[in-house]
Amino acid sequence: MNNRELETYDVVGVGFGPSNLSLAIALDEYRALGAEQEVSRLFLERQSAFGWHRNMLLPSATMQISFLKDLVTFRNPASSFSFIAFLHASGRLPQFVNNQDFFPTRQEFHQYLEWAQARVADRVSYGSRVTAVRLPEGADPEQADRLLVEVADPAGRGDRVIQARNVVISTGLAPSMPEGTTSDERVWHSSEFLDKFRRADPRELNRVAVVGAGQSAAEIIRFLYDELPHAQVYGIIPSYGYSIADDTPFANQVFDPGAVDDYYYGTEQAREAFWRYHRNTNYSVVDGDVIRDLYRRCYDDEVHGVRRMEFLNLTRVAGVKRAGAETRVLLQAGPDAEVRELDVDALVCATGYQAMEPTGLLGDLERHCVRDGAGRYRVERDYRLVTNPDLRCGIYLQGGTEHSHGLSSSLLSNIAVRSGEIADSIIARRAEHGADHAVLAEVGGDLR
Ligand SMILES: Cc1cc2nc3c(=O)[nH]c(=O)nc-3n(C[C@H](O)[C@H](O)[C@H](O)COP(=O)(O)OP(=O)(O)OC[C@H]3O[C@@H](n4cnc5c(N)ncnc54)[C@H](O)[C@@H]3O)c2cc1C
Repeated sequence: MNNRELETYDVVGVGFGPSNLSLAIALDEYRALGAEQEVSRLFLERQSAFGWHRNMLLPSATMQISFLKDLVTFRNPASSFSFIAFLHASGRLPQFVNNQDFFPTRQEFHQYLEWAQARVADRVSYGSRVTAVRLPEGADPEQADRLLVEVADPAGRGDRVIQARNVVISTGLAPSMPEGTTSDERVWHSSEFLDKFRRADPRELNRVAVVGAGQSAAEIIRFLYDELPHAQVYGIIPSYGYSIADDTPFANQVFDPGAVDDYYYGTEQAREAFWRYHRNTNYSVVDGDVIRDLYRRCYDDEVHGVRRMEFLNLTRVAGVKRAGAETRVLLQAGPDAEVRELDVDALVCATGYQAMEPTGLLGDLERHCVRDGAGRYRVERDYRLVTNPDLRCGIYLQGGTEHSHGLSSSLLSNIAVRSGEIADSIIARRAEHGADHAVLAEVGGDLR
């Protein structure tokens, strides 16, 4: 097939989690405002249906941001896609308000995301895994105004190629396991937790261990302790105890939309200070409520003379060995310390994630992307990768911009505003290339 006959879109979104869902809504709302030239768009998602960290939708787990930091409100408080609009549509608004809680459960937030995605689902192709983004064969980057997006169907219904004038990559975080450890039927990463837990026979889970000192680790320990009343639950933590997540108002300002400018335009020293002083707003920390909830359980056990939850602190996993049906975890309290062994029926590695890294998708296009002195992508304020000036297509990132845009890059806090900024940028740049300037300026001004 000739390239010109391929499906062509102004915007192709790679991945359809909350970030690109928020962008899909922003583009819809621009259109509703009457932009004469609609931005054609398609979002590609490898999962067969919408799902946001499904394997961590533990019953009592709550959001770590206010419900007002939803898909739209900070960009367009009048949007019909807000969490409040969802509550209204679900007939639960008065009850939610009576509850006096800024932090809904993750299960309820997932319902909200599903409700929102259903309203833009005609723009989404599920079961579509993007394998590469590239220039057309033999294309001169100076002339090429389209990228080719290669798509595989995990269900095996055939691969396809789509043309895009802009791609917005939002493939999310990549699970990270302790060194030398791989996941299998008894060793699980937290991102696969509920699925693997449900597939296991609870009667065979008598000794379970959870590695990590962050929010997911603490939530999983609490869940296992409650769901497996017969089991011994170990927490393997590198620290002495859990550290609390700082969500106090001044610290929370690091997630404000304005903080992105302070970070982006700040000095190297300022950026370093963001991380040094405010890492504990999100990384390797646990909500105070969850910490207290766990400690309460430990204390109640002591009162009753049992010790069902045990913390192996200042300890790291040095490896995992199979021992018959059991999993033997090698533990070390320091680089020179003796290695101890712990036999478990399941080991859950709540050992976090690595930032989004688009290099694998970009393949040869990489040559056209500019990197900074530390080898990181240079990214414009509008989240567009800095490319050689002649490459006319836009490659935007939602995620993977911690080094350029700061702490909220992989979080939900700023997705509404970020999506608006990306939509503005795509529309404005298209206008520069010949579209109607007047209409676009009017649309851009209203929704930001
Ligand atoms: C358990 C958990 C709880 C969290 N809770 C919060 C919270 O309360 N508040 C907060 O601010 N942040 C939270 N986070 C951070 C999290 O990164 C964001 O919530 C959010 O998921 C970011 O959305 P996203 O769309 O950028 O990425 P994701 O939600 O990860 O979505 C990326 C999507 O891309 C798809 N994809 C990946 N590769 C491809 C490909 N090659 N082709 C097609 N599709 C692909 C994936 O299947 C996925 O659906 C949490 C993270 C976890 C793990």
